[in-house]
Formats: sequence, C-alpha cells, structure tokens
Amino acid sequence: MHYQPKQDLLEQRIILVTGAGDGIGREAALTYARFGAQLVLLGRTESKLQAVQAEIAAQGGAPALTVTLDLLHATQEQCQQIAGQLAAQIPRLDGVLHNAGLLGDIAPMAELSMTMWQEVMQVNVNATFMLTQALLPLLLKANAGSLVFTSSSVGRNGRANWGAYAVSKFATEGMMQVLADEYKSRNLRVNCINPGGTRTKMRASAFPHEDKNKLKTPADIMPLYLYLMGDDSRRKTGMTFDAQPNRKPGPAE
Ligand code: NDP
Repeated sequence: MHYQPKQDLLEQRIILVTGAGDGIGREAALTYARFGAQLVLLGRTESKLQAVQAEIAAQGGAPALTVTLDLLHATQEQCQQIAGQLAAQIPRLDGVLHNAGLLGDIAPMAELSMTMWQEVMQVNVNATFMLTQALLPLLLKANAGSLVFTSSSVGRNGRANWGAYAVSKFATEGMMQVLADEYKSRNLRVNCINPGGTRTKMRASAFPHEDKNKLKTPADIMPLYLYLMGDDSRRKTGMTFDAQPNRKPGPAE
C-alpha cells in the first residue's frame, strides 16, 4: 500500500493492541506510538510487554500502559474487569487492534484434536469477542473509533490442512461484518486486515522451510495499519484489507 501518513496522524489517540509483545503487534504498537498515539499493550508475556513499553519510552512516545492477559484462559469476567480498570485510567479508546492469534496444528481436519480446535477458537474467536464486548463502551466514547480485526487469506478461501485456524479467521471476518453493520450509523468503524505472509515466529512455524528473507517484515506492512487507525479511513467500515495486495497466498517464492 502506498500511503504517506502525516507525522501527527495519531496525536491524542489512545490505541489498544493485543499480542503487542511480539511480531506484527509489537511493530504496530511501536509504529502507532511513533505517530503520536498513547498505547495500551495487551499480551500474554509480561516481560515482552515491558520491553515494548520501554522501547516506546526510549523513542520519546507517550507512556504506555500494559495489560497482561492470557487469551487462552480469558473469561468474560476478566475482560470486563480489565475494561473497568482501563476506564479508570483512560478517558476513551480511539482504536483497538485485535492482533493476537494462535496458529494451532497444520493438519488435515480428520486428524485435528478437539483440544487444539478449542484452543484456537478460544484465542482467535472467543477471547476476541469477549474483549470486544468489554471494550465497546470505551470505544464508543471516541469521536471516530476504529476497531480492527486480523484475518488471513485462509479466512476467505479455505485451504487443506489449515483447519481450526482457517475456520477461526472466517469467524473473525464474520464478527467484523456483523459489528460493522451494527455500528454503521454510529461513531465506530470496523474492518479486517489480512497481513499476508510476514516474517514472524508464527509464519516460521507455519512454513519452516521457506526463505524468510523473501518475506515482508512487520515494518513493511505498517502503512495499512496506520491508515486504518487514522482519520483517512474514517468512512471505511465493514471491509477487509490486504496489507500486501499483490502477494499470492502460500510459501514465499
Ligand atoms: P506471532 O506469533 O509472531 O505473535 C503473536 C502475538 O500474539 C504474540 O505477541 C503472542 O504473545 C500473542 N499471543 C498468542 N497467543 C496469545 C494468548 N493466548 N494470549 C495473549 N497473547 C497471545 O504472530 P504474528 O505477528 O505473525 O501474527 C499476528 C496476527 O497476524 C495473528 O492474528 C495472525 O493470525 C495474523 N497473520 C499473520 C501472518 C503472518 O504471515 N505472520 C499472515 C496472516 C495472518 P507471546 O509473545 O507471549 O507469545
């Protein structure tokens, strides 16, 4: 995407990123902070969140908050409690990037264990739903809130062996569409990003044999992440965007 954001694009914005400790989420958090946003960093591993928090401070960004939460075991009560604690610390949320995700096993449907199926659904769908529900009141306090979900090419076209992960991403696209319709005449837009093959730990576990130097880095795909959080996307809702529109799904060639 050729997008040239203004340096103050996210000035005065408060943005929560899930899975902010590593991979694409880490890069998104650092990028949003560089463009002026205050960050709420949510993730599973406290030390990683603290490292991102320190990096934001070192680059002169607004002090970031951290929320440690393992989405695999998250309950509705916990999500509500977190939203309540945040409401005491911040006046609103201008943006939420649901980025945390679990790949699970790459295996034929016939061989998928029920445990794996449920874990992937819990992290990618149930926890995303519970957090969204809890954070909606804070998002609706913003003039023009932006709720962004993370999808995948296998969330639009099913592919052999991508089982629970693919189904969870179809569900994510569905959740985005339902919410976008529910809030279409309100001050909240809802969209999906498909990052496309990107050099992270998750990608390496899905495609251990590909040449990772042929993949875009998280930093390369940030223009779309910025676009969807800033005012230039204010009229877009119910849409799914490709961070790498010309990339063919599958291993890097
Ligand atoms: P990574 O595995 O590199 O990072 C995932 C992040 O999510 C980590 O910070 C991880 O925390 C966090 N996370 C995972 N499980 C949980 C959990 N149970 N509770 C809280 N946080 C959790 O993945 P990517 O950066 O590659 O992926 C980001 C998103 O992009 C995902 O939704 C993925 O499905 C999607 N995507 C990625 C593609 C790619 O090629 N990379 C392609 C298409 C979609 P911790 O650091 O503690 O492990």
